[in-house]
Amino acid sequence: MSDLRSLPSVDKLLQTETAQDFIGWYGRSLTVHAIRFYLEQLRQNYQPNQLLPDTQEILFKVHELLDEWVEPSLLPVINATGVVLHTNLGRAPISKTAMQYTQEIACHYSNLEFDLGRGKRGSRLFHAENLLTQLTGAEAALVVNNNAAAVMLVLAGLASHRYVVIARTQLVEIGGGFRVPDVMKQSGAKLLEIGTTNRVHLSDYEEALQQNPALFLIAHRSNFQIVGFTSEPERKEIAALAHNYGVPLVDDLGSGTLLDSARYGLAHEPMVQESLRDGADLVCFSGDKLLGGPQAGIIVGKKELVEKLRRHPLARAIRADKMALAALTATLLHYVKEEAEKAIPVWRMISLPLETIHQKAVDWQKALQETGIACDVIEGESTIGGGSLPGETMPTYLLAIKPKSTTRFLKALREYNPPIVARAQNDQIVFDPRTIFPEEEEILLNAIRKLSK
Ligand SMILES: *Cc1c(COP(=O)(O)O)cnc(C)c1O
Repeated sequence: MSDLRSLPSVDKLLQTETAQDFIGWYGRSLTVHAIRFYLEQLRQNYQPNQLLPDTQEILFKVHELLDEWVEPSLLPVINATGVVLHTNLGRAPISKTAMQYTQEIACHYSNLEFDLGRGKRGSRLFHAENLLTQLTGAEAALVVNNNAAAVMLVLAGLASHRYVVIARTQLVEIGGGFRVPDVMKQSGAKLLEIGTTNRVHLSDYEEALQQNPALFLIAHRSNFQIVGFTSEPERKEIAALAHNYGVPLVDDLGSGTLLDSARYGLAHEPMVQESLRDGADLVCFSGDKLLGGPQAGIIVGKKELVEKLRRHPLARAIRADKMALAALTATLLHYVKEEAEKAIPVWRMISLPLETIHQKAVDWQKALQETGIACDVIEGESTIGGGSLPGETMPTYLLAIKPKSTTRFLKALREYNPPIVARAQNDQIVFDPRTIFPEEEEILLNAIRKLSK
């Protein structure tokens, strides 16, 4: 066929058995749309005397289009970067138990806001809050959509039109548009900066009290360090001063953690329990950083303050959804049962013994070499990422390959099904076993084999 008039009509194509199958799989309107779309492309790109596809070929192309159109854009990805909390790759993967439990809750009705004992309306927050107070020792807890929202709620609820004191050493931007000064502005609170970029003293806090501030805010420097001629008063000292004057101290921990990161050879990331013990009246932290759960913002602390926040209209607008609450509850139960290190992916990855990682890398190397692919096992470093433990690394072993073009190989990995994200180091591509799940190992090796051809 070499004449546009010889192309079959949309109706004719729709009557074929194949197109009827498409209608069953993808729906009528999408199928019609795909046929029209493809025929239109043929007409527009037509050159005189060009050979045109027959009905079967047309339907084959239409099938490809339909497949492409119904493919969701959000996909699981293999993270070979060794960055445990990779901000661009969905931060914390939740535990299998948390997912199974979430599925149960999400696919059925639940007692989300129903008190089964009394047969009356209950609170959605009851479920995770009991566990949070039990684990942190706080009087009360509140869960919202994410930590940015938690900080916003605290400021709007406790400091609207009033001063919030914060040290210049902590005026952080943590990425993704979260800048402490901007959040303050949005919340209606007024920023009262004290100290300098490198140093702040207790006397600076003391002086700020003259402005009758609504609260003192401490924000964790999640993604940078200040070194050299620096000083900050201890949290305990700030808390004592604040309490003397009846001013609440709020600590935005960012990541926060319930486990001591120092146990794993890392620097000590501030713990939620410590902050409360030091006298913080409210502590805010994320659900999907070092806690290893779903996206959530968690506020723990004094009952009176938490109650005030709970009643604020903003609390309703930023409430956590039932799936997040389910996943959070299951994640917290891992801590209650003292199985976090094994059950929560983030902590399992952090606590992986170096020998285990080395063994994996060596096993992969052997498996690849058997199929004729040259590769090395080299020493390297994994990082935590995701706004915790800035500059901290953990020793690891990497599988390294040397493709002709690292850029092209990385691209091919990203376009693989499932996509694989690795990193280039010098002229090699390296894969860190730390962040790869056992069930992904074979897929990764097969991808390397396939793409090395
Ligand atoms: C990450 C972070 C936030 C924001 O938390 P999200 O859960 O991402 O909204 C706020 N403050 C600090 C200090 C952080 O590190």
